[in-house]
Amino acid sequence: MPQSVDLIVKNGTVVTSDATIAADLAISDGRFVAIAAPGQLGLAAAEEFDATGLHVLPGVIDGHVHFREPGLEYKEDWRTGSTAAVFGGVTTVVEMPNTKPKTDSPENVELKRRLAEEKSYVDFGIIGLLVQDSVPALRPMADAGVVGFKCFLGETIGNIPAPDDGMMIDGLREIAATGLRIGFHAENNEIMQHLIRQMKEAGRTDPLAHVDSRPPLAEVESIQRMGLYARHTGTKMHIFHLSSRDGLDMIEEWRARGVDITCETGAHYVFKKAEDMATVGVRLRMNPPIRYGADGHGDYLLEGLKDGRVSMIATDHSPHTAEEKLNDDIWKAISGFPGVETSVAYFLTHGVNAGRMTLQQLVRATSDGPARTWDMWPQKGAIRIGSDGDLTIVDLNKEGVIRDDDLHSKNHVTPFDGDRTKGAPVATIVRGQIVMREGELVGQAAGRMVRPRTTLLRTAPTGEPVTSRS
Ligand SMILES: [Zn+2]
Repeated sequence: MPQSVDLIVKNGTVVTSDATIAADLAISDGRFVAIAAPGQLGLAAAEEFDATGLHVLPGVIDGHVHFREPGLEYKEDWRTGSTAAVFGGVTTVVEMPNTKPKTDSPENVELKRRLAEEKSYVDFGIIGLLVQDSVPALRPMADAGVVGFKCFLGETIGNIPAPDDGMMIDGLREIAATGLRIGFHAENNEIMQHLIRQMKEAGRTDPLAHVDSRPPLAEVESIQRMGLYARHTGTKMHIFHLSSRDGLDMIEEWRARGVDITCETGAHYVFKKAEDMATVGVRLRMNPPIRYGADGHGDYLLEGLKDGRVSMIATDHSPHTAEEKLNDDIWKAISGFPGVETSVAYFLTHGVNAGRMTLQQLVRATSDGPARTWDMWPQKGAIRIGSDGDLTIVDLNKEGVIRDDDLHSKNHVTPFDGDRTKGAPVATIVRGQIVMREGELVGQAAGRMVRPRTTLLRTAPTGEPVTSRS
């Protein structure tokens, strides 16, 4: 170990998913090099961060963001998206493939990596796309370093149709061979297109028409069917933005039959309810929709986050311009809103400080869960010797109010506008560099692509794959 390190974080309360201890941490060359009782490191440091009175968490990973670049930079780009991330205490993001061009080939993975590494303040994993014509590109995308794959089963932003069932099964076999995981946007398209037509014919344009057109059944049916395919092909799967208790119950059914399924949910599904659209209106339009509070979905998903049935918190950060978003006709108000900057504060407020979950449970959902799901653990999501020196430092007593105009996304119409918070990230450290401190951007854009451990283990030092490629 070096006698002088780059950064020491001292006097804080370190919280991991299984322990809460007073400890000092030393980071050098981007990694944790020492962990000791307070005052016991015995090392000099180029920089010290005094975390007295604060909680020091493994860097928060947002497992689902749309930073829109390349191609949709009028909504967001890597600089603005990653700035919002570090103000939200996020150190790593997992970026979705519905950009322009789509992330459906190794060349487009490389394009996104290059653009992101020029501008990003946070590290990132890239997700590759499964569509009808991308099956031959799945293994090459794995070799290019994607952390997993995504398939859109229902109509959503960018209209990326699912492959037919035969091609789906071919694609899942290819993905199984890579050892990576595929996530699904799980909504049955035929059920919801039918209901959307009926509601439009009935003249409905109110926000709840959107909720009524995409019932939990559409989500459950998709999970049910993909669970069957995953079992048949031996593929690890994930469910993006889980919204319903019915969906989680179906995931548990497949787990009981041996399928490796992870899933995520977000603050909007847990703490908001469809009835809130009476006040916040189209701002809360999301796919799948926020469910009715009376049905208890949010409380059920929070229980799932606490006991680990829900693998992680992810925001589905999806910025759009105010013109795209704010339309009194719900069918014309585009789905999605930014979330990467508000999620940690929201869970600290309504989860931890409300006494509804512990900080350790939150860490499991914001760090361990996404890192393990997307094959980044323990490089990411852990405070261990040798892990990347990523930290999210929070002040449980810091109060604030979320305002559209205070957010750092390029477009920032949020359904959380006006909501009070207690508990906030006060510093974000990415591989030993303090990037955000006390609401100031103080670091450089030095984000790097994170490659999955599966690929690293599969690839010999010469670059030659060592597993069978039959
Ligand atoms: Zn999304």
